[in-house]
Amino acid sequence: MTNPHLPLDQKILGDIYSSREAMDNLEVLCDDFGSRFGGTAGEKLAADFIATKYKEYGLSNIHLEPFEYLGWERGDVKLEIISPVQKEIPCITLPQSPPIENFEGEIFNIGEGAPSDFNAKAAQIKGKFLMTNSALYPKGIKRWVHRSEKYGRSLLAGAIGFIFVNHYPGYGPATGGIGWEGEAALAPGISIAKEDGDFIQRLLKKHGSVKIRLTSTDTISPKISWNIVGDLPGTEKPDEIILMGSHYDGHDISQGASDPASGVVSVLEAARVLGKHVKLPRTIRFVMWGVEEIGLLGSNAYVRDHADDLHKIRFYLNMDAAGGAPSKDINLHAWDVLQETFEGYREEMALDFAIGQTFHSASDHFPFLKAGVITGGVEPVRQTRSGRGYGHTQFDTVDKVEIQGLRDAASLAARIVLRVAHEKNWPATPRDTSAVDELLNQPSRTEVQAYLAKMEEYHSQN
Ligand SMILES: [Zn+2]
Repeated sequence: MTNPHLPLDQKILGDIYSSREAMDNLEVLCDDFGSRFGGTAGEKLAADFIATKYKEYGLSNIHLEPFEYLGWERGDVKLEIISPVQKEIPCITLPQSPPIENFEGEIFNIGEGAPSDFNAKAAQIKGKFLMTNSALYPKGIKRWVHRSEKYGRSLLAGAIGFIFVNHYPGYGPATGGIGWEGEAALAPGISIAKEDGDFIQRLLKKHGSVKIRLTSTDTISPKISWNIVGDLPGTEKPDEIILMGSHYDGHDISQGASDPASGVVSVLEAARVLGKHVKLPRTIRFVMWGVEEIGLLGSNAYVRDHADDLHKIRFYLNMDAAGGAPSKDINLHAWDVLQETFEGYREEMALDFAIGQTFHSASDHFPFLKAGVITGGVEPVRQTRSGRGYGHTQFDTVDKVEIQGLRDAASLAARIVLRVAHEKNWPATPRDTSAVDELLNQPSRTEVQAYLAKMEEYHSQN
């Protein structure tokens, strides 16, 4: 197969693979600005840095789009086992956990947290702290069961608190938001290391019951964050937009180097080389999303504020953590109609990435997917993990990210959007409301939909 974009591919690849820019940007984001968690000083510094880079790379229409949200700030926390032994256990609270004082209760351990176990064991869960671990795929379950679903199912079963145990040894506690659609969480949630979770399980086995006391001084208050927008305007059809983005906030306990900064710098790198070497018929819009980690808040705000313009988006390519992902593949979010088009791209690009056709709700493509927009992501399809590894722990640091991974993600993304922007025979059209409903209600997801409906009811009553 001939490659009509070969000269541009060569410029893009030659530039990216002979430059350190992506790693330099990663070091600035992580070492200079820290976690960039919503509400920190580093968050705004990172937003301004991204806008400065957009300018340097020749983008136009550069601006920060502010949005309001309910923020959360970590205070102090103390977790003690008060019976059958007395022992303080290191822990962290999970974002949007409410402040709590001398809150006591017994622990019920549900293990990996298969959804059906929460119903089956509701009588034992009621009135207790529910303890579960961070395994993404509980035994026998084929889909990803997200932490927030385990938390939600604990509440529905009557738990008074939530203990999230990292299932990896040596990484300490793993964090992650537990609020419902941007609201504060209704019951406290904490995370502990695997080793402490194992200790508690041994106590439970030996003594039958374990009682804890929890105090935390986190604060919850209104805040403002920003999505950072910049365009490479199309020369022929500027009103048709290919969107590419990543969130830039990490969790407050870490540098968030792989998740998400490796995605941010890969998007920036794609912007740099496309701006330098290419004139495209359609507009490429780059957006870095604020406050993804506590509920996709930036991307939700964008979809809400730009509802009338979403039809202009030909494709959204989500790049969350793309530079650190174990394999660089294209996952189309259930757009079978695009399979052949992307297989054609793959052949002319002489690359061997996989093309997936699944989707999940745990990143910034999801508000777009729900609005019918055609989405995909640079996501691992060939190699997946049973969990996040060091992700969402204090060990997600710059040293874990390899420049090769940043280059692979940036060049794959740049070459894909180059093709989508030129494509004369784009076979996909956005989903209407009923097609979105049908997708979200497909048999494999009805259990999730039923759970979400129950959560909605629970929140309207509490
Ligand atoms: Zn992320």
